Amino acid sequence: MRLLAALGVSMALLGCAGPAPTLADWPRVPGPVARDPAHEARIAQIVAAMTLEQKVGQMTQPEIAAITPDEVRRYRIGSVLNGGGSAPGGRKQAGVGEWLALAGAYHAASMATDLPIPVPLIWGTDAVHGHNNVFGATVFPHNIGLGATHDEALVAEIGAATGRAVRATGIDWVFAPTLAVARDDRWGRTYESFSEDPATVHRLGAAAVRGLQGRLGADASVLATAKHFIGDGGTDQGRDQGINRAGAAEMIAIHSAGYQGALGAGVQTVMASFHSWHDDTSGIDHGKVHGSRYLLTELLKQRMGFDGFVVSDWNGIGQVPGCRNDSCVRAINAGIDMVMVPQDWKAFVANTVAQVRAGEIPMARIDDAVSRILRVKLRAGLFDRSPAQGKLAGRADALQARDLARRAVRQSLVLLKNNGGVLPLARGQKILVVGKSADSLQNQTGGWTLSWQGTGNTNADFPAGDTVLAGIRAAAGAGKVVFSETAEGVDPKAYGAVIAVIGETPYAEGNGDIPPSGTLRHSSRHPEDLAVLQRVSGRGVPVVTVLISGRPLHANDLINRSDAFVAAWLPGTEGAGVADLLFRGADGQAAHDFTGRLSFSWPRSACQTPLNLGDRRAAADGPLFPVGHGLGLASRDTLGALDESHPAGGCGAQTSMPIFNQAAQAPYSLHVGALGGVGGQWPDAPIDADLGKAFERPGIRVETVQINTQQDAKRVQWTGPARVFAWSAQSATLAAYPDAALVFDAVVSQAPHGRVTLSIECGRPCGGQVDLTPVLRSQPLQQRRTLKIPLACLAARGADLSRVDVPFSLATALPFSMSFTHLRVQSGAARDADALSCTDLPRVTSP
Ligand code: BGC
Ligand code: BGC
Repeated sequence: MRLLAALGVSMALLGCAGPAPTLADWPRVPGPVARDPAHEARIAQIVAAMTLEQKVGQMTQPEIAAITPDEVRRYRIGSVLNGGGSAPGGRKQAGVGEWLALAGAYHAASMATDLPIPVPLIWGTDAVHGHNNVFGATVFPHNIGLGATHDEALVAEIGAATGRAVRATGIDWVFAPTLAVARDDRWGRTYESFSEDPATVHRLGAAAVRGLQGRLGADASVLATAKHFIGDGGTDQGRDQGINRAGAAEMIAIHSAGYQGALGAGVQTVMASFHSWHDDTSGIDHGKVHGSRYLLTELLKQRMGFDGFVVSDWNGIGQVPGCRNDSCVRAINAGIDMVMVPQDWKAFVANTVAQVRAGEIPMARIDDAVSRILRVKLRAGLFDRSPAQGKLAGRADALQARDLARRAVRQSLVLLKNNGGVLPLARGQKILVVGKSADSLQNQTGGWTLSWQGTGNTNADFPAGDTVLAGIRAAAGAGKVVFSETAEGVDPKAYGAVIAVIGETPYAEGNGDIPPSGTLRHSSRHPEDLAVLQRVSGRGVPVVTVLISGRPLHANDLINRSDAFVAAWLPGTEGAGVADLLFRGADGQAAHDFTGRLSFSWPRSACQTPLNLGDRRAAADGPLFPVGHGLGLASRDTLGALDESHPAGGCGAQTSMPIFNQAAQAPYSLHVGALGGVGGQWPDAPIDADLGKAFERPGIRVETVQINTQQDAKRVQWTGPARVFAWSAQSATLAAYPDAALVFDAVVSQAPHGRVTLSIECGRPCGGQVDLTPVLRSQPLQQRRTLKIPLACLAARGADLSRVDVPFSLATALPFSMSFTHLRVQSGAARDADALSCTDLPRVTSP
């Protein structure tokens, strides 16, 4: 109640009675940055002197790997970004000087265009937990950890430190903070959210903006971005880029909170969200936010009063119905001002110019977009300096703020169990450290760290940072600490205590989603962690578990096997901050208390999601630990044994079994292999998860490409006999999916020269094959088609649907190239009008 009142929402809004909310029910959020008449006059003067091509260039934001400084000059480009894991020259270890030099080159190019009044370019970067794409920069805890600190001053300090690091590299704009109020923790971006509680997102989001922006134009100031507008944290089943089904009252009360904070703090840019809003209460379908004039113009700009600019998300315009990555009248007319069009920017400029000429986009809309961009550039002082001119420019020391980050780690840890007051541990005793995340900066930093997904990193990629293990060694004395990742063959009884550091492995965006076929139970996704605890628990030696994760998890089995249990979130590079809380000081006294308190409800059972503060539920059905929970060292609370039961299947309806979509979906992995490699021995390791690298084996090459959403598809190029297939050690009962088809989106880029067979297998030699060649040959090149292959046709050719271990295998011996994604078994799809029939799918006759 207090919360809603604070947000300016009347309770009547949340009830079912009364008229549906209108725009007037949304808050107005006047920002603190006043219009400067001198700026406005200058904007009018610049815009009046620009040609249409120059204006569209100003609205275009390519990715640094896809544009040279000279192209910036020729096409009068207004902005660039570096995507997750992208660095100057593609060099992961690029130093601050290389970043600054590239920023300087882009800037100089933008000042040398044919514009009568030159307009400086602005570079945007995903500095979402520190300047996380830059080698050697301090990585702070992800937002979920900062949410647990509940400390606005700390969040503002981190924003300011991030701003210094970003300015050192000559960059002026960050795509942060994320203001999502994550409601279903299966969402893979939960860790980018401060809290499920709108009031916390409101406070901390505002603090982040104040910290990053400081005084606009000052030396350490960078522009912040409020993202992803609006309601990204509320999609159905936590699906990334999915559908938010909230009614308008809920949208206002929950998902607008962060925007009230950030706009109120003067944020100058807003990023549109990939998801769609379908208001189930009123039945109004707003569709993709990127195409919604109601949301971007009427609500954000007119009602809320935002006078900065709106940037689209990565190829986000291409998801608007009727649009492509390089063309979208609707998004621009809806109110997108700057278009993040990483690769296809040349075509985008040409198409947009033509669309304005054809009258499809009014010139007034273009002028408004450009004016907004210029206003923000003027406010940020970009017209007054080059990247090299800031006080911080080129300073490697500005990349680091290790003490601040270490304090943030200490403040973010939440103690959930401390039976018998096991923590803090005394120094001087022998300590056994176990678990895959103890010595892994990659696991403790998580997604959006040096690479988009946060994968592909080693400890050597972090020249300044401590693993948790290093922190423990420093605290306990290196001679006292033994590390055994798996705990195999070690005797815990030889130690005074065991510390297990376990948890999730890195992910970002869609890759982190837990699909409806999965649950929040950690051990189902990471059985290796339970195995480690089973080896060390129950031996009469206290076990302290540190869980590294991007979300609350069902961890009852792990908690039961631990005397103390700490939720450490994704702490970043300063693992020593974890150790600070585990040990007593040199004087034998606790040096720091646990002050972190949950900003997310912690589930009692494996399918208890969504589970949020303020839900109306019976206590037995409530969270295991509510928002605000967290023990201090003085607490003598004892936690009894927790129920470890969990459902056999997933949490969603069994209507679809995902196999591959951007990544292989657990339990499946994607492989390539030789033809006819019978013998139960899988010929190859799974196809590399590294999205940036092509994967090659004799006769076959697999690359990551886009069919629907960024990097969601694999393009397979055959030059000789080979196959690509999905496999799991666990066989599945596809018979449980009524009228199902094997469904995937496919783009053929080279027609098959020989026969292509599609098969599913049920433990070799059991299997069923169909000849897909006629279907593939009839498909127009380069066009997406959704292929639906009834499982019944494969069953008729010998597949036993009750025990399928290879639900998809595509093989040929001669040249052929096809991309595919969104591969799944879909109930009912065999009945769809566009499903293939068994007669389209001939029997494979000769071998
Ligand atoms: C980029 C990321 C971007 C993502 C979009 C990646 O290739 O590196 O920055 O967010 O694609 O899905
Ligand atoms: C993400 C954004 C990010 C952008 C640029 C997108 O895929 O959704 O959060 O800022 O890529 O990397």
